[in-house]
Amino acid sequence: MKHGMYIDGQWVSAQTAETRDIINPYNQEIIATVAEGNEEDAKLAIAAARRAFDQGDWATTPATERGRIVGEIARLIERDKQELAELESLDTGKTVEESVVDMDDIAGVFRYYAELADKDGGEIIESPIPNTVSKVVHEPVGVCGQITPWNYPLLQASWKLAPALVAGNTLVIKPSEITPLTTMKVMELMEEAGVPAGVANLVLGAGGTVGAVLSEHDDVDLISFTGGIHTGKKIMQAASGNVKKLALELGGKNPNVVFADSDFELAVDQAMNAVFFHAGQICSAGTRLIIEESIHDDFVEELVKRVGKIKLGSGFAEDTQMGPLISAEHLAKVEAYVEAGKKEGAYVAVGGQRPEGPELQKGFFYLPTVLIGCTTDMQVVQEEGFGPVITVEKFSSEAEAVKLANDSIYGLAGGVFTTDISKAERCAAKMRMGTVWINEFNVYFPHAPWGGFKQSGIGRELGKTGLEEYTEQKHILRNVDPQPIHWFGK
Ligand code: NAD
Repeated sequence: MKHGMYIDGQWVSAQTAETRDIINPYNQEIIATVAEGNEEDAKLAIAAARRAFDQGDWATTPATERGRIVGEIARLIERDKQELAELESLDTGKTVEESVVDMDDIAGVFRYYAELADKDGGEIIESPIPNTVSKVVHEPVGVCGQITPWNYPLLQASWKLAPALVAGNTLVIKPSEITPLTTMKVMELMEEAGVPAGVANLVLGAGGTVGAVLSEHDDVDLISFTGGIHTGKKIMQAASGNVKKLALELGGKNPNVVFADSDFELAVDQAMNAVFFHAGQICSAGTRLIIEESIHDDFVEELVKRVGKIKLGSGFAEDTQMGPLISAEHLAKVEAYVEAGKKEGAYVAVGGQRPEGPELQKGFFYLPTVLIGCTTDMQVVQEEGFGPVITVEKFSSEAEAVKLANDSIYGLAGGVFTTDISKAERCAAKMRMGTVWINEFNVYFPHAPWGGFKQSGIGRELGKTGLEEYTEQKHILRNVDPQPIHWFGK
């Protein structure tokens, strides 16, 4: 595998020749040493993308051909699925089983947009002006900056790469500096699939340097960012310099509302699925469990019993159910978050510390945790902890359940568990989130838009909207019988 940046069709080292070690969060071993770019590398990549957009022919290549190439990327991802999945697990610590599911999803995203490529051709519209023909065409936005996080490195990248390419843009992508490996590998596959030089560029390096240049540079027309809310706000400010188009996929603090009439077994099982995949490092994790008072004690008892049995370990071991957190810094953040919750009056029903046992000491492990006695005014209920931690609140009426669910600055996703479908639909209609699952959690697919209400973001990825984000609409009006009107005289 190449370990450099991919700029203008060439694999290159950083201008300074600096490198960064990429660490396996399971045992802190170095798994790769990659180029560490800075502002200069970012500017070179932007210049390459600008040239390819202004002087190359990607934007005017027939959409069917762009779609064919993006479809070929999907095929190559499927071909190399196992290698990509193992690379993702080495880099993030998640189980290989989860990474394989991710790779299937990623290939599906490229395939979905490949198939949409020639179905977005604009439309003729009825003009009210006599003797005119009016059409609306969709054109690429231009040079796109794309910045991705470490939790789902290649999945988040695919949501940006596939629609940007299909729509005829050129791009510079910057993966998280902690987890760049699968994005690097996919750049190789994009080269193999026939994406022309300069159309897709990869820069590596820190957010404050490389990411900041992408966000503020005048030659970047659109910035698409997935990551934390504080970074998102900085990017929004930086993007204002040249009024870039902006797409933000930020955090979530997602409620999971369980009514007393829900299917108990289903709701307990999904309360765990909602949070503990990838050790809770999921933007849509259902970390706020909101349970109807009458079943609260039974529900918590069963949940605690099962959570205590979750098997931690290497993502490569078949019996592992949950891997480590991503880094020492993140582990410290999750620990501090739980300690703050305890000080606020939350009670640790299970977990609440690092695991014991020699085999887990080298990794950044934290025990799956349930905090009970929580209320919405607590920091642990309001802030995104991004770890394997569930906070439990109680409610006694449907109105109260909805009120608690909506009591957040975020609005990414949420779930409702009940066997009363009318009640479920009433709640779903009132929940202020981009996605609401009924008797389900954490399910998504490429055809449906993904994004947040409130401070969870701006815009939508996936679905047709995810492609529209990468297009400009242009209205072209032609007068078929033009005559002077002499408004200002002859
Ligand atoms: P982060 O904000 O720390 O970093 C994300 C990316 O931004 C990284 O590539 C980083 O290098 C870059 N960055 C950092 N500072 C920057 C700056 N000043 N200018 C430009 N770029 C900068 O987020 P993270 O810790 O990598 O990821 C976790 C966060 O991502 C969580 O909040 C999670 O909810 C969110 N997330 C959201 C979604 C979604 O779909 N809404 C999906 C995945 C993750």
